[in-house]
Amino acid sequence: MSEHYDIVIIGGGPVGSTLALALRDSGLRICLLEARDFSPSTDPRALALSYGTRLLLDRLGVWAKLPQVSGIRTIHISQKGRLGRTRLQAEELGAPELGYVLPYSALQNGLQSAVLAAARVEGAGAESAALSPNPSPVSGRGELICIGNAAVTALETGAEAATIRYSRDGVAQELTAKLAVVADGGRLLEASHPPEVHDYGQSGVIAHVTCAHPKPGTAFERFTPQGPVALLPYHDGYELVWTASHEQVQEMMAWDEATFLARLHEHFGDRVGAFTGVGPRSSYPLRLKRAPQTTLPHAVLLGNAAQTLHPVAGQGFNMGIRDAWELAQVVLRAAPESLGSAAMLDDYQRSRRLDRAAGIRFTDGLVRLFSNDLPGLGHARGASLALLDCIPPAKQFVAKRMMFGANG
Ligand SMILES: Cc1cc2nc3c(=O)[nH]c(=O)nc-3n(C[C@H](O)[C@H](O)[C@H](O)COP(=O)(O)OP(=O)(O)OC[C@H]3O[C@@H](n4cnc5c(N)ncnc54)[C@H](O)[C@@H]3O)c2cc1C
Repeated sequence: MSEHYDIVIIGGGPVGSTLALALRDSGLRICLLEARDFSPSTDPRALALSYGTRLLLDRLGVWAKLPQVSGIRTIHISQKGRLGRTRLQAEELGAPELGYVLPYSALQNGLQSAVLAAARVEGAGAESAALSPNPSPVSGRGELICIGNAAVTALETGAEAATIRYSRDGVAQELTAKLAVVADGGRLLEASHPPEVHDYGQSGVIAHVTCAHPKPGTAFERFTPQGPVALLPYHDGYELVWTASHEQVQEMMAWDEATFLARLHEHFGDRVGAFTGVGPRSSYPLRLKRAPQTTLPHAVLLGNAAQTLHPVAGQGFNMGIRDAWELAQVVLRAAPESLGSAAMLDDYQRSRRLDRAAGIRFTDGLVRLFSNDLPGLGHARGASLALLDCIPPAKQFVAKRMMFGANG
């Protein structure tokens, strides 16, 4: 007999963990299955989080506990070799910051600690198990159970419930749920429900860099025909995201440090002076992946499982946390017997339609518009950036979209 839950969350990454936290006091029986063993993450990428995301993390009680956060007060947007630039500033919007930079691992570990502290944990790594020796008492019949080393192998959706199969220590297991939430980053349903994929032909190199004249609090987004390059202010320097064709990125990964720093200076220009140091480099292929449907009978796709975006505008997790937050609100509003019903799932889809479509369009449009050297387009883009800089309401519109999404 398989055990039955109200909700099974597949994937304890930042989005799945956000949902588990938002529903921890819901009184529902929730099980989170994570393929890893809950050891702290060592993922090297840095994330730019919007001010709106900070507010949500605050409400979940996680923000104040996150270490190593740097604020963004200005975003400087320009294109290589052309006039015209725009500067978005927090003070023009009456916000303390436009956004924040922190390592993915710090965010993931902060969310994971909070989830594990509220849960009964099975299959945790040694260090994480120590984080939650005494799970909080559970109110009502509700319960949050986190199972590590639990790689989900199949999801079957049916008229009455979803069936989730997973493997733990080589043993096949099965659960059923009124609602299965797929927050696995996009792998589980790739074959059975293929996403629409647009390959930009680009990869991104990420690394921490230091420079001669850092401008604390200022993020730079520079568009070039080979792809965007971003510098996110972080501690003594910047988190770099440098995009180029897959072949160019392979070469960039092999450059020695002096060559890397000199080529970066050549490519980015002189706004922060010469680059003086670079930490370990990693690379990622960059694609837009969009699930054709974000709901299936008794199941919903969240975060990267629903849409994987190019990191140009730093929207991926910011969109994923809004998916998780909105789903939690819909679940909390729904009558328990309607959990996972077509009406509840329609309610969720409606609430995310505008923000999801606008976020995908915005990010995809930026990459396509700026990653080319078509005659005449460079001048038009430069003129648009300069114009945007002179029209405060237009600037506010763009900045608010980046901070809060289209529903903001
Ligand atoms: C280079 C780069 C830079 C980025 N920069 C930004 C940025 O500046 N701002 C921003 O907002 N976003 C950014 N993103 C996007 C951001 O990283 C993602 O949107 C975010 O990680 C999505 O979280 P998620 O929880 O949906 O998926 P993931 O982070 O992929 O987590 C998925 C989780 O599910 C688990 N899992 C996978 N398969 C299974 C399975 N079968 N069973 C059980 N568990 C499973 C995994 O172990 C993992 O813990 C960037 C991405 C890249 C690649």
